Amino acid sequence: MTQKHDNLIGGQWLAGSNYTPNINPSNLADVIGDYTQASAEQLDAAVQAARAAFPAWSTSGIQARADALDKIGTEILARREELGTLLSREEGKTKAEGIGEATRAGNIFKFFAGECLRLTGEVVPSVRPGIGVEITREPVGVIGIITPWNFPIAIPAWKIAPALAYGNCVVMKPADLVPGCAWALAEIISRSGIPAGVFNLVMGRGSVIGDPLVNHPGVDAISFTGSQGVGSRIAQQCAVNLKKVQLEMGGKNPQVILDDADLAQAVELSVQSAFFSTGQRCTASSRLIVTEGIYPKFIEAMKARMAGLKVGDALAAGIDIGPVSSLSQLEQDMSYVDIGQAEGAVLLAGGERLKLSTDGFFMAPALLTDTTADMRINREEVFGPVASIIRVKGYEEALLEANNTPFGLAAGIATTSLKHATHFKRHSQVGMVMVNLPTAGVDYHVPFGGRKGSSYGSREQGRYAQEFFTIVKTAYTLA
Ligand code: NAP
Repeated sequence: MTQKHDNLIGGQWLAGSNYTPNINPSNLADVIGDYTQASAEQLDAAVQAARAAFPAWSTSGIQARADALDKIGTEILARREELGTLLSREEGKTKAEGIGEATRAGNIFKFFAGECLRLTGEVVPSVRPGIGVEITREPVGVIGIITPWNFPIAIPAWKIAPALAYGNCVVMKPADLVPGCAWALAEIISRSGIPAGVFNLVMGRGSVIGDPLVNHPGVDAISFTGSQGVGSRIAQQCAVNLKKVQLEMGGKNPQVILDDADLAQAVELSVQSAFFSTGQRCTASSRLIVTEGIYPKFIEAMKARMAGLKVGDALAAGIDIGPVSSLSQLEQDMSYVDIGQAEGAVLLAGGERLKLSTDGFFMAPALLTDTTADMRINREEVFGPVASIIRVKGYEEALLEANNTPFGLAAGIATTSLKHATHFKRHSQVGMVMVNLPTAGVDYHVPFGGRKGSSYGSREQGRYAQEFFTIVKTAYTLA
């Protein structure tokens, strides 16, 4: 008998229309628990509960908000090992990565506990004598939060924490594939002292619960992370209803390797950002752009390093890469290996499904060489352990190729040249740029986001989060 997990609506734990099992992708025989699916009526009730809670919460004291967020962060950090293990069990990243993500979630709540106390406004002189002008920030209202499956606790945390810190109420729909961490987080929030209705969890499919959440007249703003296709549709729906919207979407992130790079460092950061977390990171490098002087050595070193990578059960010791999160994602990853080869690419390593001691979605990380920028493998997001190499003559061509994509989330360069590092930081068309570091792996207290087809709306995280989660008011007073 597996444990049943319900929706949190107006402070009550409520069963939905049915339950679906949450399955461990490392071991399909392992059912983590049964998670309910919210009905349309429950979604409506959650929005009504959030609306009812908003007047009191939006005017509550900042100390009460800070205390609640700090309490949530403290509990997450105290339980990071347990929550990280749950995360790895349901999503498939290694246990070390799972614990790292849980730690990040705890730190985010702690950071925004402090942000409650740091919100400022401005008092400026008027151009008209005898008038005072004040510029302040106010909460937006009810925020609908929709999250993807690849960071099942950190992404909910980096949306929920600022929403609550700045006085908003929340209705959250987590990814249907990984409701476990979202439920655990909701349970912690429910005991934090935050009043009933301020935070609500509705679990279920995007088409059943996500779509009506976006279109509900009681929701003032939508913060979404996920694919470009779904994000674009949500933006259109929000535009029709004049709702504030923030979208974080996919990437096709370049990692440039120049002739003067430290070879060992370049290989390590490429393997890390292309394949760790099973390549299931929006910031993963899937295009390795290598200049011709270092190319032969780089290829050989990558092959050798990849031969040493251990794929296995996410919770097992000594594993570098866990399983792909779902069968449909595994099929997509494998299909891109075929698509790349059909386009003329050469498979240097990996790309096959692995049979291990448990029945899971294991795949050997794949590296394709001899690829060109126009190939689908270099234009479309795969979102798995699949990377390709593009050979270029020198830095100028590398920069052109790096920017030759509809996406613009993150980019990296491996070089010992200050001139090229400085130029690349300025001219790569992305939101986040790394020098001699993997494209994946960012701090929790600074802005996160991209440009072009990767992001839409204002930045997430750090104090920049207030742009989305507050509304600016300008007040004039006759002295
Ligand atoms: P997805 O298919 O777009 O789903 C994201 C969320 O949207 C899920 O909760 C999904 O529900 C929901 N959804 C689906 N259809 C919807 C609809 N019509 N209306 C409202 N909500 C809907 O993305 P995913 O496969 O979960 O995640 C992978 C993608 O996320 C990749 O493209 C990745 O790059 C991106 N990502 C971006 C960032 C970033 O910060 N830039 C970070 C992480 C991931 P279901 O669970 O029921 O499908």
